[in-house]
Amino acid sequence: MKTLAAELAFFLRGQARQNLKLLILYCTFLLILVLTYSALFRFLMWQLEGREYSFLAGLYWTVVAMTTLGYGDITFTTEPGYLFSTIVTISGVIFMLILLPFGMISLFLAPWIEQRLRYRPTVALPEETRDHVLIFGFDAVTRALTRKLQNRQIPFIVVCSDHAQAVRLEEEGFRVLLGIPTDAQFLKGARVQAARHIIANLSDPENTNLCLTVRSLCETPIATLVGQLEHGELLRLAGANQAIALKRILGRYLATRATTRGALAHVLDSFGRLQIAEIPVQATPFAGQTLAEARIRQRTGLAVIGLWERGRFTTPDAATRLSPKALMVLAGTREQLEALEMVTGEEESDDLVLILGHGRIGCAAASFLDRRPVPFILIDKQPSPDCLDHVAVIGDATSPHVLRESGIDQAKGLIVTTNDDSINIFLTLASRHLNPSIRIVARANREENVDQLYAAGADFVISNASVGASILNNVLEGKESIFLTEGINVFRRPLPPNLVGQTIAESRIRPLTGCSIVALEREDAEEPLVVPPPETLLEKGMGLILIGSPEQEENFSRNFRG
Ligand code: ADP
Ligand code: ZN
Repeated sequence: MKTLAAELAFFLRGQARQNLKLLILYCTFLLILVLTYSALFRFLMWQLEGREYSFLAGLYWTVVAMTTLGYGDITFTTEPGYLFSTIVTISGVIFMLILLPFGMISLFLAPWIEQRLRYRPTVALPEETRDHVLIFGFDAVTRALTRKLQNRQIPFIVVCSDHAQAVRLEEEGFRVLLGIPTDAQFLKGARVQAARHIIANLSDPENTNLCLTVRSLCETPIATLVGQLEHGELLRLAGANQAIALKRILGRYLATRATTRGALAHVLDSFGRLQIAEIPVQATPFAGQTLAEARIRQRTGLAVIGLWERGRFTTPDAATRLSPKALMVLAGTREQLEALEMVTGEEESDDLVLILGHGRIGCAAASFLDRRPVPFILIDKQPSPDCLDHVAVIGDATSPHVLRESGIDQAKGLIVTTNDDSINIFLTLASRHLNPSIRIVARANREENVDQLYAAGADFVISNASVGASILNNVLEGKESIFLTEGINVFRRPLPPNLVGQTIAESRIRPLTGCSIVALEREDAEEPLVVPPPETLLEKGMGLILIGSPEQEENFSRNFRG
């Protein structure tokens, strides 16, 4: 069935699609011809021979004449009638019996056979191939990763075990290798030993098997995406260098953005002592104030390094007004975050988050909230087969009745995390309608749907593919980096030697690269210096923690090479 669908799909792509249009046009022409002949037949029969026939009889006579069947049950008996019959029969031979089959063969059958014969899958790479990234398992995440690799001009090869998928990807312009990923001989042909990195994105057992096979051959680094959390350890044992629990990370991102609990609840990641955290402006007394009026720096020592609002990330300045709908991204130490918590005051009991969808991502979000602890209610169509920790309300979330019964009116936050984007869009719209002030965080399974989710009323959208691809990309670059959003990274670099002895203003890091310094790490001091003022002296042995887009990051590498 799958192969039939794949073969049929051939007719809906590229040149075959054009030809299909031509065929439809031709058939329309034939239809008009037949209808015209039928009408003429009735007219001539009545005029020449005084006989009256129905429309259906006319159609029948025309088709029988054009296909040269000629039953002879309805015939003309006059000379002009014979002439008309001859014309109809000859045009039938030309248009139906010669041109139609000829067109079918030359426009469809021949290209299809040619394509089948021409496609010779690549099963091994040339000897000199090296420094390539091998991608096992192609989906939305690895597709997004390939775009990043293309931008950075890193050669990559997609490995497929499915012939039809290989054909499709090759038609899209990817370099594809066809073979069994756990066959050592095939892996040697894929030049794993010379590869820069291996991305294992198959099922957990297949990834394990792949890691073991690769490790029996070479030490090339392997990054794998883990399906089930408990399998991470096994994958590492099998030889994976990184086992990335993407679903747990996504669950955590969704959860931190859905609650208005204090700052410590939102630590995204840390570089040594420096923590990067998020806090909704709404949870603080600063809503409506400008950054200068809020005096967050003076009160806590924390720096606001970014503002997130409806999918947009901006770097604020003193005059930026803090909208209650925004999230502040903060940099500072744990103690400074605690100081902020003293200012904002922990909101106790009145937070409630609804989670729609108890798949692995929904479950990870629930576990995260559980540890805070933030009260939540899970809703799913069916009981989860994998989870013993949570009890979900069983019901279809698309029914407003279920949402109301679960308390959407009182809820402060909502996480929409089913595996179907149309349902996620629908649920976002319906929930926004039922509770206009609720904070909605939605998951986009496909990047194309991010905008629709925002349009439906989501406050934050997390795209599986973007997050996954950015994490993998950071792993490939071997750099420590925190993913904030598509296009914004926080990253660490040693102080370039030629900047030693200059002040930050003299270093011209921001004008030259666009990156901003979030913090300075000093060898002798425990505390990183958060958002240092421009007159700060850059000293030998310091570490820089910067924020910027991938291009700005590249500018930094280009301008300040070791
Ligand atoms: P993941 O593991 O990536 O989170 P899953 O497919 O396991 O993805 O999870 C999606 C969950 O969403 C499933 O448990 C499914 O039952 C649930 N779901 C899908 N549609 C609805 C709906 N209309 N109402 C409630 N739950 C739904
Ligand atoms: Zn669970």
